[in-house]
Amino acid sequence: MLLKYESRDEIASLLSEQDPGKIEIIRSAAHEVLVRECGDGVFYRGLIEFSNNCRSDCYYCGIRCSNGDVNRFDLTKDEIVESALWCAENGYGSVVLQSGENSSESFISFVCDTVSTIKKRSVSDRLPDGLGITLCVGEQSEEDYKRFFEAGAHRYLLRIETTNPDLFRSIHPEDQTLEHRIECLKRLRRTGFQVGTGVMFGLPGQNYEMLADDILFFKAMDIDMIGMGPYIPHSATPLITRKRQFKIVGDALLTVSLLMIAACRLVLKDINIAATTALQTIDPQGREKGLSFGANVIMPQLTPVDYRKSYLLYDNKPCLEDTKEDCRNCLSRRIEGVNRVIRYNEWGDSPHFMRRRRI
Ligand code: SF4
Repeated sequence: MLLKYESRDEIASLLSEQDPGKIEIIRSAAHEVLVRECGDGVFYRGLIEFSNNCRSDCYYCGIRCSNGDVNRFDLTKDEIVESALWCAENGYGSVVLQSGENSSESFISFVCDTVSTIKKRSVSDRLPDGLGITLCVGEQSEEDYKRFFEAGAHRYLLRIETTNPDLFRSIHPEDQTLEHRIECLKRLRRTGFQVGTGVMFGLPGQNYEMLADDILFFKAMDIDMIGMGPYIPHSATPLITRKRQFKIVGDALLTVSLLMIAACRLVLKDINIAATTALQTIDPQGREKGLSFGANVIMPQLTPVDYRKSYLLYDNKPCLEDTKEDCRNCLSRRIEGVNRVIRYNEWGDSPHFMRRRRI
């Protein structure tokens, strides 16, 4: 079967596939491209959610600033550094520092100081350049992105959530615009970051053509890495009131989530793609399935257990009680169970980024 996915219609047709035999052909083709372009290794990014304070009010997010029921927290620098050093000692080559959005000078300088401390203190024989650091702290000025980069972060994840202007408007307040999100992605690229983005699938009013447009946007923006997942409602958000409009639910949501990973692998080929925790929320084997459909990155939980329940972007988030040791042991079993190899002590940079840098 010739698998050619270049146009919007071809990609939308892939995403709407229901036939199990054809889905298996797509999965197998995506796996083949993954192994050819990136190898079959799985890279860890230890996830530290260090603050749930956020100035933004995204209509789908449980920690949006209008939700007064959230216990707000900020980890201390020592708590973050301690978690990051645990990653280094346990062979995770990289960490992700994630938080709500905040542009105050105290926040920016706190992030820079924490990043540079992790960099310095994680250098070892096994990690001669220290841990790889990904930041996921939202829309910021170009100047602040430069400060993060100079402090030692070298990857940045800023999810676009959807590239459809009407859909974007319907899930964000007026002052959060698609144009500004895209401008921030361009700032990150100019700064020198490996740039990651991603979308949600199953949003009210979303269709397969819109998701195909999202993938073509990733291609046009020359994106290096993808972190995306199914939309899972949070009960204390405005979007829950549109529940009747949720069209892609249940098994269909899992299928489209896996086909989005496969489609990104087939179209974008040598980028990094995460099998996100949200996949595990809709299917107990969701992350393993994500790996078998073309993903190559896993983000084990490092947020201290006491704070995890206060970082709920969506309901039914898994692994809330698991310690970092539980997560490490559980994930290594899951990954070995799908015959993939964890690449310890490596940053696992996006081959796409490395190739572009050589040109
Ligand atoms: S999605 Fe991010 S920016 Fe939006 S409210 Fe949640 S934490 Fe804040």
